[in-house]
Amino acid sequence: MGIFDEVKKRVTAYDAVSHYGIKINNKGMCCCPFHDDKNPSMKVDSRYHCFGCGADGDAIDFVSNYFGLPVIKAAKKINEDFNLGIAFKNFSGNDIKSEEQLRLEREQCISREVERAFDIMRRDAINILSKYHSLLWYWRKEYGPSEGDADWHPFFVESLEKLEFINELLDDLIFGDREKQLEIMEIYGEEIKAIGERIKNFN
Ligand SMILES: [Zn+2]
Repeated sequence: MGIFDEVKKRVTAYDAVSHYGIKINNKGMCCCPFHDDKNPSMKVDSRYHCFGCGADGDAIDFVSNYFGLPVIKAAKKINEDFNLGIAFKNFSGNDIKSEEQLRLEREQCISREVERAFDIMRRDAINILSKYHSLLWYWRKEYGPSEGDADWHPFFVESLEKLEFINELLDDLIFGDREKQLEIMEIYGEEIKAIGERIKNFN
């Protein structure tokens, strides 16, 4: 297991956010430190996600963004601040690195980059689905049938059909494990893009 995985396994975003002095309420929400946030709009769990500015990530991302550190230094900081005792000798510069160590380090950095690229895609999908979700809510309220209506408005019907499902997708994309997130993007990625195009025209 890589150093990043080891750190993430032992320290959640929740642990990091509260450790560095940000108050989390009993609904797992806190004021987002990455934008001017008056009401708690950041959800914190194994990962964090801000519904205001879209800030999103795991414990290492949080420490990296909060303290303005490269991810490896952020992982090191967590290791020290939480007394994890993970050996970071590969990165300390004191030990002479073997070819094998260097190769492993490079691999870890690459997989981290791939993960970041995926997270950007995932964040876009979350933004689209959140907007669509609010739209469906609005349609349900605004286009509900009145007594004597022969036909239901198509927007109302759409909200009946889709709201629950979109809610579940959002939940899994934000808080599901990596495998679940990958699965969703693979199955629904194109459709989510199409929804994004479609709802551009609605306000
Ligand atoms: Zn925010």
